[in-house]
Amino acid sequence: MDEPGTLYVVATPIGNLGDIGARALDTLRQAAAICAEDTRRSGQLLSHFGIRTPLLALHEYNEDAIAQKIVVRLLSGESLALVSDAGTPLVSDPGYRLVRAARSAGVKVSPVPGPSALIAALSVAGLPSDRFAFEGFLPAKASARRDRLQALAGDPRTLIFYEASHRIDETLGDMAAELGGDRPAALARELTKLFETVLDGTLAELSARVRSDPDQRKGEFVVLVQGAGEDADAKVAEGRRLYAKLKEHLPPSTAAKLAAELSGAPRKALYGSE
Ligand code: SAM
Repeated sequence: MDEPGTLYVVATPIGNLGDIGARALDTLRQAAAICAEDTRRSGQLLSHFGIRTPLLALHEYNEDAIAQKIVVRLLSGESLALVSDAGTPLVSDPGYRLVRAARSAGVKVSPVPGPSALIAALSVAGLPSDRFAFEGFLPAKASARRDRLQALAGDPRTLIFYEASHRIDETLGDMAAELGGDRPAALARELTKLFETVLDGTLAELSARVRSDPDQRKGEFVVLVQGAGEDADAKVAEGRRLYAKLKEHLPPSTAAKLAAELSGAPRKALYGSE
């Protein structure tokens, strides 16, 4: 039987096509086929570089079924590549099931590393980068999103999120309420593209900026938030003091939201603190 081929997991640009690497181009050119999330989008990338390798659709909905067929091809000796629409496959993108299936069939899976929005954003945000937690996209539903943020409020690592333009305003507001309005944060928008902007400030400042400027709500975003600091205890004490006062005049949920914003303490730490 032939030696199995290799599955190459190839990162592609997140905006600027000049960011594609030489090895990525060679790998894409030499593969028997390229598994792509959106064959139309990847087709544009390939034709820009004059690459005529056939494309295979591999998305969230057909990944399990297609993965088995791809593994058969790999086992027969063909080498294939996996790309996503932009950046590194598997990072908030499909591919995990295919990689797992290939590995468990004994096929070599090899990375061709390159751009990823989360690392690009971390490299320019000016936030602590020694330890960080990538949280991908927050839940779309408001209550689930707030619950997730509450669960992260005490995490000391820099938190990194992806967000879509139609939710960025709401998400920053929820982050200010749940993580504390005075938490240092950064908003990386349209990285490597024409309108690349990296804003920094507290969560309250960034939220106000995005709310007041529709241009800052356009495009693709990475949100980075500094982890809970050592002064977290002092903030919680101040937040509880404010909450107790505000609750005399406001409904508890509004009082907790305001106290969290003013003190920088996470809202969860204030509720039920009386
Ligand atoms: N696999 C990709 C990667 O490695 O970055 C991420 C795919 S995920 C479906 C797409 C999200 O990544 C966007 O909604 C946005 O949050 C973020 N993103 C992708 N490109 C970006 C860019 N140029 N600038 C800022 N964020 C970007």
